Amino acid sequence: MNPLSSSQIDQLRQLLPTLVERESMIKHTSFHMGGEARMYIVATTSEMLLEAVRAAQHVGVPWYIFGGGSNLLVADQGFEGLMIQVANHQLKIEGMSMYVESGVVTALAARKSVEAGLTGFEWASGVPGTIGGALFGNAGCFGGEMRDAVTRVDALRVADGQRVALTNAECQFGYRGSRFKQEQFVLLGCELTLKTSDDPAASRARLDEITKRRQEDQPQGQSSAGCVFKNFEYTDEQALDLLKRHVDEIPASMLAGHRIGAGWLVEQADMKGKRVGGIEVSQKHGNFLVNTGGATAEDVVALISYMKMKVRDTFGIELEEEVQLVGF
Ligand SMILES: Cc1cc2nc3c(=O)[nH]c(=O)nc-3n(C[C@H](O)[C@H](O)[C@H](O)COP(=O)(O)OP(=O)(O)OC[C@H]3O[C@@H](n4cnc5c(N)ncnc54)[C@H](O)[C@@H]3O)c2cc1C
Repeated sequence: MNPLSSSQIDQLRQLLPTLVERESMIKHTSFHMGGEARMYIVATTSEMLLEAVRAAQHVGVPWYIFGGGSNLLVADQGFEGLMIQVANHQLKIEGMSMYVESGVVTALAARKSVEAGLTGFEWASGVPGTIGGALFGNAGCFGGEMRDAVTRVDALRVADGQRVALTNAECQFGYRGSRFKQEQFVLLGCELTLKTSDDPAASRARLDEITKRRQEDQPQGQSSAGCVFKNFEYTDEQALDLLKRHVDEIPASMLAGHRIGAGWLVEQADMKGKRVGGIEVSQKHGNFLVNTGGATAEDVVALISYMKMKVRDTFGIELEEEVQLVGF
């Protein structure tokens, strides 16, 4: 990436007085690694978010939007541009509709929905990060995903600078995917339509159960970016020919869903505990890479490449990254 010129930096400083220079992304990513953002700003309102994007466009500076940084791998050399952290935080509940701005913490929105006597969004209490990131990747767990409840997304379409309100169908949600991964949008907020809970105590108990399950299944107290790979989806049974020759049994739940867990594949390929530099495949969950201290983004890229190669060569299956790369 070309270094920003001093004139670009001066212009941006004037347009965005609260921006910070050379901000370490270690503080802003759940992996706790990566280089510096040449410029960094926190957008606490939707107006501020749009202003920051417009300023970067006006000055011709590369920009990148992020929320909780829980699905990000930032390059060791950092990002030569403006990193915009989304922190607009309005949340409004009216009847069965909950409107959440994109910077609202997803788990908080889940808890608020339960406190308001609603059901259908409890699953999201286990997802780190913000609503913007959750919309981007159609986040999901414990049988729920964003597309189940989203009825409208408010956004700026970057290609033509238009403010748009997208319906659920227009968001093209898929497994850990959405239209927002194909076409650039600045996500401002969304409306979720939930149901009135018949049993609010059961909804509250579900929140506790989710927290407990997370503690059991996932590495605790270690820096990670959640699942590094998407689970492997297939339509044609032939895709599993090589895998069937190598493993005793494929779990029935995976076969039923036509989706083979990436963590399970990593485990079958005997890669739990595999390490490159400071990054390690978690002993607890094969799809989690944990920063054991001082890991670099280069370590992560090297380990990801090794894991993909091993799974491809052993089982003939191509894993695809779920984590988003910035500055590479
Ligand atoms: C311990 C752990 C457990 C996890 N468990 C799950 C899980 O069960 N299910 C699951 O789906 N994920 C899980 N994740 C991954 C992650 O939490 C989700 O992907 C989350 O939704 C990302 O939100 P974020 O705000 O942190 O996004 P970020 O990491 O900040 O960004 C992710 C992507 O979204 C884009 N983006 C974010 N906000 C906006 C916006 N306002 N406008 C446009 N683009 C935007 C960014 O550009 C980036 O490409 C886990 C992560 C961790 C660390």
